Amino acid sequence: MIQERAQRVHKLLEEADLEGFLFLDRANLRYLSGFSGSAGALLVSRKGTIFLTDARYTTQARQEVQAQSICEYQVQLDGILEQVNQLGLQRIGFEADSLPYAMVERLRQKSPAGCEWQPESERLRSLRWTKDRDELSALEHAAAISAEAFEEILPLFRPGVLERDIALELEFAMRRLGAEEKSFDTIVASGQRGALPHGIASDKVIASGDLVTVDFGARWSGYHSDETVTVAVGPVSAKLRQIFDIVLEAHDRAMGAVRPGIPLRDIDDIARSYIAEHGYGDYFGHSLGHGVGLEVHEHPAVSAQSEVLAEEGMVITIEPGIYIPDLGGVRIEDMVYVTADGHRRITRLPKEFRLLPA
Ligand code: ZN
Ligand code: ZN
Repeated sequence: MIQERAQRVHKLLEEADLEGFLFLDRANLRYLSGFSGSAGALLVSRKGTIFLTDARYTTQARQEVQAQSICEYQVQLDGILEQVNQLGLQRIGFEADSLPYAMVERLRQKSPAGCEWQPESERLRSLRWTKDRDELSALEHAAAISAEAFEEILPLFRPGVLERDIALELEFAMRRLGAEEKSFDTIVASGQRGALPHGIASDKVIASGDLVTVDFGARWSGYHSDETVTVAVGPVSAKLRQIFDIVLEAHDRAMGAVRPGIPLRDIDDIARSYIAEHGYGDYFGHSLGHGVGLEVHEHPAVSAQSEVLAEEGMVITIEPGIYIPDLGGVRIEDMVYVTADGHRRITRLPKEFRLLPA
């Protein structure tokens, strides 16, 4: 797998007319070398791939990393430049979206004369777009953990329970079931707080008649799940039920359209127009979805601005929502894998209206 991934970098070197590429971004390091630690560098060139790290990680790197050689540095910048010099690289690309400006300046100042550092952004975006077999199974495993944890703690959803107690129990259950970590701060937004698309679990007490939106995920083997469920605790108002049904239909229609070749902006548009036709266009302010993998939010975005076509192997989220201030909100989210002739849902929880006893 790592070798196939390295091919993608070699193709990029050719397209960008570069002799080498320096990777420092953690997710890219993991993707291209297997390294799961927090400090390292990967220098890829036609002459070979060199992984560099400091003394804290040398042993770990020898166990995890697939590269032609593993070098230890005391000062990262010096270690990188030593290899650049030895290989005689003149034109080297770097990750423009994540490398700190100060680091780029230092690299340029301390490099030998004639050495050029070229920022790369667009061309890097597609590097991790399509997932291979190992990545897909890690994502599926993360989604299975989060679904099992959610079903386990579902009896907690009742009047009088704090949002943050639900978040805590959910996170504890995911860890117990094998998650390395939660994917991000768990969102539990009940009642009027449901109008906050990113309402991190608070001290609010859940009341009968609340819709409760839970957006959460588990990280497993570096890969993240991301799923949103909205449930009713006791009977909800007709208006809340109406917006739930609209969001669910928008979600189902958008997900149903996912197949290779469809523009991602069209998928966004299917959900957005359906919500707008029902009078709630002003209450769906975010894009429909995003790529997910070694990072919770990664390329490609599923938005009205996207110029990307769905491709077999991509994993994207579909997460329409309606958020009405002083009333509440609904979001429903699934992760889907683009297959050769359509799609397959990765996240597992049922999304139909669930009325829990109050
Ligand atoms: Zn989410
Ligand atoms: Zn998401």
